[in-house]
Amino acid sequence: MIPWLKKNKALYKSGRLSVKTKGLENQPGQNNCFLNSAVQVLWHLDVFRTNFARMTGHNCVGESSCIFCAMKHLFARFKYSDQEILPPTDLRVAMSIIYQAQNRFQLGLMEDAAECFENLLLRIHSHVVEESTSEDNMCSAKHCISHQKFGMMLIEQGVCECGETSEPLPFIQLVHYVSATALCAKLKARRKYYRAADKEEKFARLIRSVSRGSRKCPSNCGSEIATRTSLMNAPDVISIGVNWDSEEPAIEHIIDFIHTLSTMIKLQDMFDSVLDKNAQRNEYHLSAVVCYYGKHYSTFFFNRKANRWLSIDDAAVSEVGKHWRDVLIKCIKGHYQPLLLLYTNYAAESMNFSSGPTSIKKIASSVTSSPALSRRDSEAASSSSSGSLSPAHVPMPVQNGNSTRPKKFQWNTSVPSRGTGHYKEPKAGTSFLTYKPYENPSKNSNSFKVSTNTNNSNDINENLRGFPTL
Ligand SMILES: [Zn+2]
Ligand SMILES: [Zn+2]
Ligand SMILES: [Zn+2]
Repeated sequence: MIPWLKKNKALYKSGRLSVKTKGLENQPGQNNCFLNSAVQVLWHLDVFRTNFARMTGHNCVGESSCIFCAMKHLFARFKYSDQEILPPTDLRVAMSIIYQAQNRFQLGLMEDAAECFENLLLRIHSHVVEESTSEDNMCSAKHCISHQKFGMMLIEQGVCECGETSEPLPFIQLVHYVSATALCAKLKARRKYYRAADKEEKFARLIRSVSRGSRKCPSNCGSEIATRTSLMNAPDVISIGVNWDSEEPAIEHIIDFIHTLSTMIKLQDMFDSVLDKNAQRNEYHLSAVVCYYGKHYSTFFFNRKANRWLSIDDAAVSEVGKHWRDVLIKCIKGHYQPLLLLYTNYAAESMNFSSGPTSIKKIASSVTSSPALSRRDSEAASSSSSGSLSPAHVPMPVQNGNSTRPKKFQWNTSVPSRGTGHYKEPKAGTSFLTYKPYENPSKNSNSFKVSTNTNNSNDINENLRGFPTL
């Protein structure tokens, strides 16, 4: 038996490991850690897991390519399987088929965990909401778990001293992206002010101040006006994606960033105005952090039942401690860069699915025609906040005038892997197992080969813009 598993079993038996949860497989060459992190976050979020369990009807694009079915199947195994480690293969394969045209999330290749998380939510939306009913992608379907629970419906507008107002720009985002460098710089500049302010308010207020865009006054009075962002709804999960300048920042930078974090946020601090009464009242508690180090992702999750932080690193699950500072110490020791932070309203209500599909309807199209959402797209769409919609459909917030805005987080392929984490270059012909959803996996497993075309690695390189290639 694997040593840590043995240790975990012993701990669990002795009553010291209070949470029993499953790990996800990541064999050499599979590079599953980004997907494993995104899946573990969704599985451990009570508001997602419990509501998703009640969703069955969807537009199904077929057994091997349906992301909805693959997630259902994986979640069923989380719940019922007696295996300690589950293979995420079905989901990995389904994503590789659906995003093939965009050359994203392909088998064996490393990807970004925050983007994966966001795209999984978008795919679930597209399986339960008809295109025609979500005009302009401003999805308001009551049964859409992605937008009801995670979507931030925002309106951005500038008001000038001359009296002119800019056209209001509505958009929905599933993840609010901020720059680690901008946050740290703002904290430094405002240190005096924040010393007095409540520590809990600090992080959300910093986000608000670095997320503010600016634009030219539409009346041509010559003024640069700052935009104000209003939140229209009350999501239950606030996801914050963190952009880093570097894949290996100095430890001081990581420490600085970690010190900007609060374990609770209120939305009035994060947005200029909050219109929904519930959103004004709700408290959002830090419940999950996806971290990055050495071409590898892992996750910390706060388990409320056990009142403990867990570390979930692919197959390895362990307890970190009762307090957030236990996680901080681990992050600092391991040089982990927090990349995705989830703040959850623990008083979330369950959803009403009566407006949603009640049966599994087979539909023909199996490949997404819309581009995979990425930080890069988000950056192009809106430099301040992420427009989590495809650029063609959305009125985009205008360019932020902040010239010091750092480069986006990107894979640095010039730096060789330092042998940390689980990163391995994938090999052509690596075999993966794939299972049919909803069926007993042991009976229906069949082999799936990773198709790696080494001849057009240049094309791949260009399309993936800096992602490690074959
Ligand atoms: Zn399906
Ligand atoms: Zn939706
Ligand atoms: Zn003006």
